[in-house]
Amino acid sequence: MSTGFKGKFYRQNMLARYAKDLVRRSRSHCELCGKSGVKLEVHEVPPLDEEPSVEGCVFICEGCHRQVDDPRKIVPSHWRCLNNSLYSEVPAVQVIAFRMLRHVAGMGEHWAEELMEYAYLDPEVEEWANAAE
Ligand SMILES: [Zn+2]
Repeated sequence: MSTGFKGKFYRQNMLARYAKDLVRRSRSHCELCGKSGVKLEVHEVPPLDEEPSVEGCVFICEGCHRQVDDPRKIVPSHWRCLNNSLYSEVPAVQVIAFRMLRHVAGMGEHWAEELMEYAYLDPEVEEWANAAE
């Protein structure tokens, strides 16, 4: 058995334990689009630390998750929600919001380019946002 499997299993176990904290933090709303009454999933924000942490996770709906995982599936109009999530109190949410915004702006969406232009992130958050990819 590879240690990779063991590592993944350990991680999933740890992440499952954060669900309660994440439900509280998000008040059961998708941390990106604000949707409620839907199933929310834990997404770890890359680059991953060796030890998972609740601060390194966002709690998002399936619709957002699919597009975060695969930028080819991005539907630009969905991401108008970034107007709010970019200014979340949670750094991990800001990081994902900023990365998605950059993708959408790269698709030539003017509203996204404009939002990028005025976006202000704390230097640590910006560094994190630029750390992966
Ligand atoms: Zn969502």
